[in-house]
Amino acid sequence: MAVGIDALAGKVGGSLRGKRVLVRSDLNVPLEDGEEGQVRVADDGRIRASVPTIKALADAGARVVVAAHLGRPKGAPDPAYSLRPVAERLGELLGNPVYFADDTVGQSAHDTVSELRDGQVALLENVRFNPGETSKDDAERGAFAVDLASLADAFVSDGFGVVHRKQASVYDVAQRLPHAMGGLVAAEIDVLRRLTEDPERPYVVVLGGSKVSDKLAVIDNLLGKADALLVGGGMVFTFLAAQGHGVGRSLLEQDQVDTCREYLRRAADTGVELVLPTDVVVAPEFAADATPTVVAVDAIPDDQIGLDIGPESSAAFAAAIRPARTVFWNGPMGVFEFDAFASGTRAVAQALTEIDGLSVVGGGDSAAAVRRLGFADSAFGHISTGGGASLEYLEGKALPGIDVLEES
Ligand code: ADP
Ligand code: MG
Repeated sequence: MAVGIDALAGKVGGSLRGKRVLVRSDLNVPLEDGEEGQVRVADDGRIRASVPTIKALADAGARVVVAAHLGRPKGAPDPAYSLRPVAERLGELLGNPVYFADDTVGQSAHDTVSELRDGQVALLENVRFNPGETSKDDAERGAFAVDLASLADAFVSDGFGVVHRKQASVYDVAQRLPHAMGGLVAAEIDVLRRLTEDPERPYVVVLGGSKVSDKLAVIDNLLGKADALLVGGGMVFTFLAAQGHGVGRSLLEQDQVDTCREYLRRAADTGVELVLPTDVVVAPEFAADATPTVVAVDAIPDDQIGLDIGPESSAAFAAAIRPARTVFWNGPMGVFEFDAFASGTRAVAQALTEIDGLSVVGGGDSAAAVRRLGFADSAFGHISTGGGASLEYLEGKALPGIDVLEES
């Protein structure tokens, strides 16, 4: 599989100079209202992560055409989801203007691309303005991919957050152009391989976040691979219920209790350590200023909500993490957005920074949590930009956007 721009150059006659290269990036960033009714980028993390590949192509003399999505528009143009503010921010980060096409594959796109000179960059409007992008119908997706492909001589897949999607700008277009994997996707896949193919042991996985049902498949898969699985966050209450504890008004997915009970049994059978908290922080309501109380897991009052793991559990989780040589963490241990319920998440994050080995943080909220709590990105081995894609990989699922690159 071609990784990097050298390999791609080889596929298009030896040099990228003057070649139109379509890059699928993940520029799906949160927006906020700025001055004078302008909309601006609230967090440019994903744009920054996309810059190196775009810059490398521009530096090689390519005419770079970036395709990306923003939010979930319904297959038609919608100004609320325009990528225009993103084009501006991308230009600032590149230090060069980014020409914006205000459609995806229409007149504006063709005009903008044909006016590009070597080393210049254009951004197409939100690909999800076209119903073909996310269509389940191969022909409809294929037709949009043909239009996208007509804008370029080669394709680079660099949007890790979307490689688990069989979508026109991710999957179908790669079948229609000489292609390569971008540096961002290559780095993510490299880390995920290290987690799945022969991880250095002890291998500890920490899972949290809001819903257990989001993460059942990954628990299922990791039960056979990790040495220890630590569970916190909102999802832990379904496990505690499976152990027969009352969980008050905490998050509970009643229909998953049996599945969690089955996991507890399987962990015991296979010798995987499945570690649950022994104490939790509860409060009478879901609010930043709610009064926190620490209780044992077998004494959660009926009228209280569990919002974090307790101090004894935080210490136990940290102690289980520290000797590990490989740690994957997805999902905050509590409602870290409220300071009073951020301690469990902080303790786990801190422990990850102290291991002698590979520490990986996956998941949008988990990444946001470590930054909010003041940890530097560099304190971790890797912070994944794509929560869904990394979880699906760890579930053992194929990623269509990766497999299609391997097909030739
Ligand atoms: P990620 O995006 O990292 O995969 P999730 O989206 O699964 O993580 O979950 C993140 C959310 O889980 C956070 O907004 C956090 O407030 C919430 N959460 C964590 N613990 C609890 C809890 N005990 N009760 C309710 N929500 C929780
Ligand atoms: Mg999330």
